[in-house]
Amino acid sequence: MSTTNNANGRLGLMLTELRLPTIKRLVPEICDQSDREGWTARHLLEQLLEHEMSERDIRRIERHRAESALNPDKRLSTFDFTVVPTISRAQVTAITEGFEWLKRGANILAFGAPGSGKTHLLSAIGHALIDAGQRVFFTRCSDLVQRLQAARRDLRLPQELAKLDRFDLLILDDVSYVRRDQAETLVLFELIAERYERKSIALTANTPFSQWSEVFVDAAMTVAAIDRLVHHATILEMNVESYRRRTAQENQTKRASRTTPPGFS
Ligand code: ADP
Ligand code: MG
Repeated sequence: MSTTNNANGRLGLMLTELRLPTIKRLVPEICDQSDREGWTARHLLEQLLEHEMSERDIRRIERHRAESALNPDKRLSTFDFTVVPTISRAQVTAITEGFEWLKRGANILAFGAPGSGKTHLLSAIGHALIDAGQRVFFTRCSDLVQRLQAARRDLRLPQELAKLDRFDLLILDDVSYVRRDQAETLVLFELIAERYERKSIALTANTPFSQWSEVFVDAAMTVAAIDRLVHHATILEMNVESYRRRTAQENQTKRASRTTPPGFS
């Protein structure tokens, strides 16, 4: 490696100052290659900047994944579509590949019994959107309600809502576990109203809308919240048997068939 091409001297200092760590790392190798192969100055510059830009994209996506609070294991690659006949892979691909719905602030509402895969599927959609450069935040709905309530007490609710605004998609897990006696759910309504037609919400719920009167302060607020949520929404009905129970039963059957002597099954 030629000493003139290392990035320790003045060049290194400038690259640090300009926050170009990838170029700084690659200068020795790429400049040597450029000297050997007689690249034009323009080609060398393009090569260095291309590397910086692509690593910058990767670093940004890693940051977005870290801030999302998504469970790293719940991905589309581990989601078995065959057990949920009401949802097709094509439908989910359309959601993760076209962002037109995110630009409109449209919503996704996933309903189904406990264990039907709602959290897994919405987390997987979240990861796929992050891979595609979008910003996503996952939270249990009751945790967020508590956080917003605390912000309201400290007169910081507008600032707290504004913080959530940087996310293209907010995933609220288990909306039906929020109880109006557990928390002042007015803040949840305010969040829904604030994001309406601007920023998307994806939510999971174990209970259909008809039982949501438990969640909001009064009937009028329940209707107003549901109205805003469904106005532009994709509804994912996941009415399948609990995946946990199914796999537990399958494992039990497997264990039983291993321990049962031949002729006794
Ligand atoms: P819900 O949120 O509807 O209660 P979860 O998404 O938490 O259900 O699913 C329960 C468990 O079963 C999780 O560990 C999840 O990863 C797994 N699971 C559910 N549905 C599927 C599926 N279709 N393919 C793979 N794993 C699944
Ligand atoms: Mg869940």
